[in-house]
Amino acid sequence: MLTDVPPRKANRAGFLESDRIRTLDLPGDGRLPSISTSIELAMKSEATEEVRRLCTHFLSAASELYKVPSCTVRVLAARPLRVRERGTFELFGDYHPETSLIRVWMRTAVRKEITSFGTFVSTLCHEFCHHLDFQKFGFSDSWHTRGFYERAAVLYHHARGTPLKKLFWVPVAGGRWRIDWQRTNRGA
Ligand SMILES: [Zn+2]
Repeated sequence: MLTDVPPRKANRAGFLESDRIRTLDLPGDGRLPSISTSIELAMKSEATEEVRRLCTHFLSAASELYKVPSCTVRVLAARPLRVRERGTFELFGDYHPETSLIRVWMRTAVRKEITSFGTFVSTLCHEFCHHLDFQKFGFSDSWHTRGFYERAAVLYHHARGTPLKKLFWVPVAGGRWRIDWQRTNRGA
């Protein structure tokens, strides 16, 4: 995971705010984890229609939770080889702010295999966090900042019921950051 290049001037304040917000309020109930467990089962049995229905259910529950207008989701079969989203390559999904439409792909591009459940849910949470950037935080754009990735991780681990890891970042050229996976996995 690599953050976007910080924008110059106009959008800088929003970018820094996005970078600063490192967490999301989480619900005390098990609604999202329970829907995600159902998604896992539906993916295992390749029940595509059921996966579609559950993704809609997951996103409307999440939208309700964060008191934002709901977004729509299209669950597609094999993803295109390259999906260009805001200048970055995102291989498993995208989000269009004008239509609040999330697209996620269930199969890999080349071998047409089912995407792993972890990757799929992580993508769903990632794209939903783009939705939150516009609808909850009111940012003029939705950048991949450290805060963005951390918010997406908080939601993902809640949805899967897995422990949240502290993410360690290393600066790279151009004012960007990447995750230091060694330290992150070690936890120190
Ligand atoms: Zn993204």
